[in-house]
Amino acid sequence: MAEVGYLDIRRMFLASVEKIRENHQELSRLDSATGDGDHGTTMVRSFDSVEKTINDAQGEDLKSLLYDIGWNIMCADGGSTGPLLGSLFMGMSESVEGKDSLDEASLAAMFRAGLNGMSEQSKANVGDKTMMDALMPAVDAMEAAAGKGKSPGEMLADAAKAAADGAEATTDMQAKFGRARNLGERTIGHKDPGATSMSLIFQAFAESI
Ligand SMILES: [Mg+2]
Repeated sequence: MAEVGYLDIRRMFLASVEKIRENHQELSRLDSATGDGDHGTTMVRSFDSVEKTINDAQGEDLKSLLYDIGWNIMCADGGSTGPLLGSLFMGMSESVEGKDSLDEASLAAMFRAGLNGMSEQSKANVGDKTMMDALMPAVDAMEAAAGKGKSPGEMLADAAKAAADGAEATTDMQAKFGRARNLGERTIGHKDPGATSMSLIFQAFAESI
């Protein structure tokens, strides 16, 4: 059984910072089709705060790291996405109380707890053209992979694939949440920027393990 520890989680998040920076122009381009075109900029601001939180972290406490990442994202001006990401990472922190490292089941449980946290902020479901279209299938895929005895690396690879497929599928959907909702059918044909960001985060997590 492989374990994912503090340094692995740290590396996963630092990889996501780089991934968002590399793709911020594309994220803003996607947002400009159905929104105000600032998604890349706000995501960079959110993930600048992730990097600062990691660099400022004292000791090696997994729960504190995840909690602080979530809290500081909420405090950064991350547009409508900031509070959602904050609730995701703070939700993750709740499941790792007292743990130094995570086995496969605990790793999947951490992401499920994050999803539950985000669900308290957003009523969106799969099919609504939001971040949930990437996050929900990713968490399902992680649990399925853990159930089949796959390693943490394989679990994250499955999650990244499911998130990418989920983000891709938003292209054909009509937005039901956020400002894009007002555009109705005109949102069809454009990939959702939030789902794309979520997919990039999982891609970075998978590549770093
Ligand atoms: Mg925007």
